[in-house]
Amino acid sequence: IDFTHARFCAAYGTPDQIPEAKRPEVSVVGRSNVGKSSLINRLVGRKALAKVSSKPGKTATVNFYDVDGIYLVDLPGYGFAKVSAAEKRRWADLIGGYFDQERSFNLVVSLVDIRHEPQKLDHEMVGFLKEGGFPFVVVLTKADKLSRAQQQRQRALIARELDIDPETVLVTSAEKGQGIDELKDAISAACV
Ligand code: GDP
Repeated sequence: IDFTHARFCAAYGTPDQIPEAKRPEVSVVGRSNVGKSSLINRLVGRKALAKVSSKPGKTATVNFYDVDGIYLVDLPGYGFAKVSAAEKRRWADLIGGYFDQERSFNLVVSLVDIRHEPQKLDHEMVGFLKEGGFPFVVVLTKADKLSRAQQQRQRALIARELDIDPETVLVTSAEKGQGIDELKDAISAACV
């Protein structure tokens, strides 16, 4: 996959707007502010393909990017506290509706901030992916904020809490580029 071959396709506000899956699909999920936009931009080597949110909690949409013939699907960040109950419900309907569809689901990239214990919604997301049998990888973000020793400790702790194999957990930094090649390899391997 040539990750620099990327373009924005469309944003969808309701699940029924999302077109049928005709290509391999890699979906990215995570809490609001986890660093999802920054990671997507780093993956494709661009500054602002995915907008780095100046305003978290802005209207949630499912954003499709064409990355060298595969779809990279940016799902709305969850867990932003300052949104209305109605907006939270809309988010849940949007994400739930997407995962309910008949799609390829080659890989779900589940982002967790390396500095914190997984939060309730992170547990729910990973639990949902496990129960649904979705192929997924947990990717820790903002690794540059910790020392290498701290990174390894957090990786072990987060893997234990989420009950997943620590060996499968990727440690990344959108800022420094750490772990990006490993993530590209995981995406490529899932899309053959
Ligand atoms: P999103 O809401 O998940 O799309 O998160 P953003 O990509 O907008 O990032 C949220 C905040 O975290 C911004 O202030 C980013 O500059 C910061 N951030 C994102 N990735 C990294 C990273 O790898 N390292 C550091 N130090 N900060 C990051």
